[in-house]
Amino acid sequence: MKTCIKGGRVIDPANRRDAIGEVWMEGGRIIAPPASGEANETFDASGLVVMAGGIDIHSHIASANTNTARLLLPEQHRAHARRPAATPLSSAGWSTFETGCLYAQMGFTTVIEPAVSPHHALHAHLELADIPIIDKGILTILGNDDFTLSAIRDGESPAVIRDHVAWTLEGARALGIKVINAGGVAAFKENMRSFSFDDVVPSYGVTSRQIVKALQAAVNELGVPHPLHLHCNNLGLPGNVETALATIAAAEDLPLHLAHLQFYGYGKEGPQGFSSAAPRLAEALKRAPNVTIDVGQVMFGQTVTVSSDVLRQFMARGQAHPKKYAIIDGDSNGGGVVPYEYKAGSFFNAVQFAVGLELFLLIDDPWRVYFTTDHPNGAPFTAYPDLLALLMDRDLRAEWISRLPPDAVSVTTLPSLTREYNLYEIATMTRAAPARLLGLPDRGHLAPGARADVAVYRTGKDLAQMFRAAARVYKDGDLVVREGEVTRYRFGRALNVSPAVDATMERRMAQYYDERYGLKSDFMRVPEGAIGRPDPFEGVACSC
Ligand SMILES: [Zn+2]
Repeated sequence: MKTCIKGGRVIDPANRRDAIGEVWMEGGRIIAPPASGEANETFDASGLVVMAGGIDIHSHIASANTNTARLLLPEQHRAHARRPAATPLSSAGWSTFETGCLYAQMGFTTVIEPAVSPHHALHAHLELADIPIIDKGILTILGNDDFTLSAIRDGESPAVIRDHVAWTLEGARALGIKVINAGGVAAFKENMRSFSFDDVVPSYGVTSRQIVKALQAAVNELGVPHPLHLHCNNLGLPGNVETALATIAAAEDLPLHLAHLQFYGYGKEGPQGFSSAAPRLAEALKRAPNVTIDVGQVMFGQTVTVSSDVLRQFMARGQAHPKKYAIIDGDSNGGGVVPYEYKAGSFFNAVQFAVGLELFLLIDDPWRVYFTTDHPNGAPFTAYPDLLALLMDRDLRAEWISRLPPDAVSVTTLPSLTREYNLYEIATMTRAAPARLLGLPDRGHLAPGARADVAVYRTGKDLAQMFRAAARVYKDGDLVVREGEVTRYRFGRALNVSPAVDATMERRMAQYYDERYGLKSDFMRVPEGAIGRPDPFEGVACSC
């Protein structure tokens, strides 16, 4: 069956296309316009904007921390919250089911869960398989695990680190490797309460710098398309820009992705010893073309912070709102869940809000700055439409800035930034660039052969509304959203890399898990059957 979207403004930065034209689909793929013959279905998109489906590279939508948060905060769940009134976080929904629907309504068709311990990968995949419509993938965590730290301490060869990375990626069926406060979480278990890039993990005698560099090199050497995805040390602390700058410098010429950089953009200037250092980060990134970042924008309202940076979460537990939290130690990173409310009237939260926007506006290459709120850490992903509107409209930004404490605004450069993103830049940042960064050439663009993931938006004065409720969304060529409402469910498979695994490493890990934990090394292995699911809704029309 051939479908044609005609007459819309097609914005496809990967193919340098921005013009009124047609997009044709058949068999789940984009096809070239046929020389002759009619479409079976035609959608007249005159006056509308047509883009590839959106791709989110960093959103915590599954796995251990997310589920702990669900259990800790039932009042944030939509169904619960309807009695008596919806809470801000409930706008994101809280179930796997709503996650897929809400992303699809905004025109997003691929989402990456960026922090899954290899030991929790099976559960995470089963949960992801339950999320409808969107394609999913995971990044799996190393960098505080005993095997990696011991191997570096014992001076084992880079080949051992590399083979362990390959073994971990393959077993967890992940798309890449995430490192969270490298060494800091292991040090936390030995009662260290702060940990910087050159601090030493007591029992191992290795620094964060050594761990990051060893894993960065291993990922690169294996040829994994997505670079090492790094959550730096000292998240959220005044003056932590120095940590981020040291990390950027240490990357040398190898690819590196820095997650939620907003949380590392802080200086110590001003009346409260807390200020924006975003311009310094933007300058450093100009000189480091091998480094990409996502922002982790803060938006105001109730949310919950979920992180495997258990050191950071433990230290932040006093700021919990409401006053409850969960700190879980355990294998490798453990996890911490601390509910939090960002307030526009708070000096600190206002600076955080500004730092995120400054990063978006000062880094003028939309191929290297990625659109995230680190859902739910900076804000639920349902805040994306408002954030897109803020990036595209400086008058709207001025309105928001006028509600912030003036002394907070004065330690940022935000009021001076006049840049407005255009739709081409938005499409680059949310489609073309993330597909390239994740190594997914089948999506993020609209050339023939690409997956037929397409979002059609109705432009208008209300930019947030445009992105909140797509006019049409197609997933693999299936029409799944009409006028902001899900009209059809379907299920996909998780995306993963499958590097070759060295047989010696396989034997070594079997022995290691047996000796150290009394477990078979394949206890956490994700079987093929777990990364997809039969589609029970095939052809069933319904609405979320
Ligand atoms: Zn995150």
